[in-house]
Amino acid sequence: MPISTEQLVKKTLELGASVAGVTSVESMADSRSENFVNQHGFYAGDMESASKVLVVEQVWRSRAKSLLVFAVAHPRERPELDWWGKEIAGGTKGNAALIDINKSLVTWLDKFDIQAFDVGYHPLKGGLYVKDAAVLAGLGTVGRNNLFLIPGLRAHHRLRCLAVAKELEPSQPSLYEPCQNCAAPCLRACPQKAFSDQNTIEEKAFPKGGYKSDLCGLQMQEDKKTAAEKKYPQTRYCRRCEFACTAE
Ligand code: SF4
Ligand code: SF4
Repeated sequence: MPISTEQLVKKTLELGASVAGVTSVESMADSRSENFVNQHGFYAGDMESASKVLVVEQVWRSRAKSLLVFAVAHPRERPELDWWGKEIAGGTKGNAALIDINKSLVTWLDKFDIQAFDVGYHPLKGGLYVKDAAVLAGLGTVGRNNLFLIPGLRAHHRLRCLAVAKELEPSQPSLYEPCQNCAAPCLRACPQKAFSDQNTIEEKAFPKGGYKSDLCGLQMQEDKKTAAEKKYPQTRYCRRCEFACTAE
């Protein structure tokens, strides 16, 4: 029996997602990240994290036709969803919830004879730039703080993607543009000054706001030290640029 985008999105929301949308695998070929990687190669920061593993083929490109992208809310009043610990499947409780939704969707779609599989975050590890997929699936936009902004959720959410071996109608694009006319308090919130008002790379490249991931990486090291010193069971990574955002 055929499944529509509307049915798949409805099921994803029933399973606990806050918002969901669909784009085609084909559409990713002309995304900002694809264009950037084609012109500049992978970011040094990306390579650093990817260097610990073998490069994995992006099988979603050949085995899937559509990409479901969804988000689970990570509200400020539930910080534990984002605390990272190696004993937690997926690293955080929030990511575990996202992965569980994908597992349930795989089982549900199988009843309709549709194959589907979870897609991770890093292109070199077989995944994709999920923010680009989320833009194409009409969920929202990438903010000047380099985070993905969704109407009503701001950046208080985490994204995940499911590859689906069936052509589905793409979701409508989002018209959400909260960064226009914003004084951008997000760019001044960073303890490591990871943002500048000017991009250090060409205009159409990403990320926005001249974001320097290596400086953010320094803060992550600080956060790990703090967790060890304070004997936190999990690491509470910095979210200042997320919480400073004034989008509605
Ligand atoms: S998460 Fe923290 S350290 Fe990283 S860019 Fe945002 S404010 Fe800066
Ligand atoms: S604070 Fe303003 S400029 Fe920064 S991400 Fe939010 S809406 Fe965009």
